[in-house]
Amino acid sequence: MLRMKRFEDFNLKPTTMEFLKRNGFETPTPIQEEIIPTALRGKDVIGLSKTGTGKTHAFLVPIMEKVDSSLERVQAVITAPTRELANQIYDKAKVMQEIDPNLIVRLYVGGTDRDKAIDKLSETQPHIVIGTPGRIKDLFLEASALRLDLADTFVIDEADMTLEFGFLDDIDAFAGRMGDDLQMMAFSATMPEQLKPFINKYMHHPLTTRIGSEERFNPNIRHILVPCHHHSYEKTILNMLGGFQPYVCLIFANTRETAASIAEALRKDGKNVSELHGGLESRKRKQAMKEIALGINQYVVCSDLAARGIDLDSVTHVISCGFPQDLEYYIHRAGRSGRGGSDGVCYALYKDDDYRSIRSLQRTGIQFEHKRFKNGEWVSLRPFGAKAQASDPEMDKEISKLNTKKKTKVKPGYKKKRQKEIERLKQKKKREFIRSKIKEEKKARYKEAARKKKNGEWI
Ligand code: ADP
Repeated sequence: MLRMKRFEDFNLKPTTMEFLKRNGFETPTPIQEEIIPTALRGKDVIGLSKTGTGKTHAFLVPIMEKVDSSLERVQAVITAPTRELANQIYDKAKVMQEIDPNLIVRLYVGGTDRDKAIDKLSETQPHIVIGTPGRIKDLFLEASALRLDLADTFVIDEADMTLEFGFLDDIDAFAGRMGDDLQMMAFSATMPEQLKPFINKYMHHPLTTRIGSEERFNPNIRHILVPCHHHSYEKTILNMLGGFQPYVCLIFANTRETAASIAEALRKDGKNVSELHGGLESRKRKQAMKEIALGINQYVVCSDLAARGIDLDSVTHVISCGFPQDLEYYIHRAGRSGRGGSDGVCYALYKDDDYRSIRSLQRTGIQFEHKRFKNGEWVSLRPFGAKAQASDPEMDKEISKLNTKKKTKVKPGYKKKRQKEIERLKQKKKREFIRSKIKEEKKARYKEAARKKKNGEWI
């Protein structure tokens, strides 16, 4: 099949084409190419792609195409998990209003005047609603001011983050009160298991489109492996903080519990810290978003998903505590430093279990330096994964034992024999080394399987 290449091929209305023209878009991005024609046919869609792939217009274009501004009712609803993300969508949607002056697009997020919004809604209903799930639910179900029951299209942007922040219940509450013919579109970077029951409940044979990340490895970013050994992440971080001066340091943790514990340890050490992850209650999360936007604190501890809502060009250093299950997220973690062409550095703290993750990343081409911060300075270590050094102290001892044996009476062929003995020892050592590595890997595999079984650690 011939792939569509230009927006002209979608047979869009002149106003929609004007919307694209105002944005300066000529050709659809891969996700737009897949989603727009499917959405125009009225099908439910799931778009799996990372930020920056053009998701927003993948749903705004079909909405613009379908919305009828002569009808006085809500036709499309778009939710995002944070105010900032909702705001970003709203800014892009406002361009539609410039083209169609009759079109009403409104933003409903927490922290804005609720009564004023209700007053306005008693006069007119918008055509397009953009907002956070909590406020939309409130205006629809509690205040009965916003009439979503007649809407045709419902878009959930950043669905995985919506789930992590506990907003899926809000959405569940009001999606159940929307029409049966509702077209549902969900966009997400990942598809966690916990999202599936929701998808199955509301979507009918959705088309799933997965667009790979186009993020390239940034050569300006240094990756430094730092061993934790038996120490905790907290202890290792506190120890190495003397080793660099960040403007803003973003610290990633695999679980909300770890994030909270690291933030606590840094705070106790007198550091200015913001923390942002799904484990926080909404008031604290809002507070953190505000602090982060204002750049108040030097350290920000976060989960992978929460970090997506943070737009920080001032990050100079990243610390990755362990490795995320989806290793691509490691690239994203590291990529948060070195924005805008400046150099970045990512310290990847590792424990024994991380051997496989590190090897996988190395195979994708990441070059790790290997260092430890000791007695106030960075010390370079043997390259990670390199074979044991040729001069192994234990083996040297055994060889020297061979050398001192009967030095005076040298039998013929002794040299050859000795050399053979040394080779045998070396072989033995090598086998031991390989055996221990296999054991290590086996252990890591078991642990990984157990962790997956335990589940709930997808953030
Ligand atoms: P996402 O919603 O996936 O995070 P955005 O919608 O913010 O991505 O798009 C990322 C950037 O790409 C934005 O600057 C947007 O203006 C631009 N963009 C989106 N679609 C196109 C297109 N078809 N052609 C050129 N640029 C585009």
